[in-house]
Amino acid sequence: MTRKENKKEKKGQRTAVGMRMKIFAYLAVFSAVILAVIWIFQSVLLEDIYRYSVRRQTMRTARIICEADDTADDFERMVYDIASQYGQCISVYSVSDMRAAEMVSAHIQSVCVIHSAMLNEALLGSLYSNAENGRYIETMDSVSRSEGSVVCSERAARDGYEILCVVNCDIQPVDATVSTLQLELIFITVILIAVSALTSFFIARRITRPVAAMNEEAKKLAHGNYDVNFTGGEYLETLQLAGTLNFATSELSKLDTMQKELIANISHDLRTPLTMIAGYSEVMRDIPGEMSRENMQIIIDETHRLSSLVSDMLDLSRLSGGKRELKLTLFSLTECIAETASRFEHLRGVDGYSIKFIPEGDIYVFADETLILQVLYNLISNAVNYTGEDKTVTVTAHAENGVCRVSVTDTGEGIPAEKLPLIWDRYYRAGDYHKRGIVGTGLGLSIAKNALVLHDAPFGVTSTLGEGSTFWFELKTSEPPEGSPDDSGSI
Ligand code: ADP
Repeated sequence: MTRKENKKEKKGQRTAVGMRMKIFAYLAVFSAVILAVIWIFQSVLLEDIYRYSVRRQTMRTARIICEADDTADDFERMVYDIASQYGQCISVYSVSDMRAAEMVSAHIQSVCVIHSAMLNEALLGSLYSNAENGRYIETMDSVSRSEGSVVCSERAARDGYEILCVVNCDIQPVDATVSTLQLELIFITVILIAVSALTSFFIARRITRPVAAMNEEAKKLAHGNYDVNFTGGEYLETLQLAGTLNFATSELSKLDTMQKELIANISHDLRTPLTMIAGYSEVMRDIPGEMSRENMQIIIDETHRLSSLVSDMLDLSRLSGGKRELKLTLFSLTECIAETASRFEHLRGVDGYSIKFIPEGDIYVFADETLILQVLYNLISNAVNYTGEDKTVTVTAHAENGVCRVSVTDTGEGIPAEKLPLIWDRYYRAGDYHKRGIVGTGLGLSIAKNALVLHDAPFGVTSTLGEGSTFWFELKTSEPPEGSPDDSGSI
């Protein structure tokens, strides 16, 4: 992190609001919204809602009574029950030939329009005629109260007569209720603020505790201490974060160990040829008789070893660092193998080595030729180095079902089964080959593996102790390019 970024982050930390404060603010806003809604409904809209509910209930009562059987024995009882349940005054009339006869009269309210106007015939007549279409509802001024009174009349036809149901409900003043509710709201507000503060305090403490603990561990990690353990508390998100950090820690620790090993290996591998070169050069400078061809050859060999080590390292870092992009081309794998084999034969043939390759037709693949060449080179080079007394290496390429399997077989000592998975690791060397004079860097198979992984190509090794090893890899075959001599059918 640059100094500028560091400064910016520190400034951000200073201006950042703590989690406790944030949660409190959210809860306070939430409570305020709830209080506002309650206040609007209880203070501003209370009267309207109350009036609406009285009208609704008055109409419902009239409907229930008109739908009831007025000849039933319990009809009167039912009317009284409804009247007392809803605090309404109800009068039911039977009307025939424009004459109304009272059937039931439930007088519940002390002051009531229909009972105080007691059969004010004009009122009854207007309620009857207004309910011509079934129902009529009206809010009248009450005699004693300014709030008024809801009167609803409903007519229902019966056999030979009509039922007229008149329901009256007084509208009570709501001012007292509103002021009571407002007082209640003040209490509720105070309680909600206290609850919000306490809740935010506890929530923040529970959430921040694991985060703060992880922060402490992360600080240790930042100072290179990998002996840390992130515990995530009880929340899924913090648990996931802890898991990720623990994973990152173990990966960092592995990387650190690998880096240290790598540096140790590199310095060791570089130092050996350098010491040889320096030693032989000094001897040749100081002792004239030592200025021999053999000594010069040793210096040349060590220089080659040094250069191959450096180029292997570069190759590997390019491949495993993901910087190398595949340059796919269509080429003849058979030709590629044949060339590599003959080059080795040419180079090592003088020492009696024989690299056998019997081609099975011309197999074409769509791959990165340079990388595949390198894989072949590394596998054949290993096979030559580790093959047995007969100094023979066999290379085969067999295509079937659109896949070509290339195998490189030697007759050497083989590799112990427990070491097989390790040989692909960088700098891994299975035996003490310095004794046999085998020049190796421990990077060849790692380079081959990275190249094949880039191609998404399967690869592996089978080995029998005392009999030899077979290293193999598979590539998808392609049709030969048009016009090539093999463009005659499938392989
Ligand atoms: P090196 O430069 O040591 O050959 P490699 O990465 O190519 O490095 O191989 C890693 C190790 O795998 C070798 O040191 C050797 O122990 C083992 N190995 C590779 N190829 C063979 C083989 N054909 N036969 C036996 N052992 C092998």
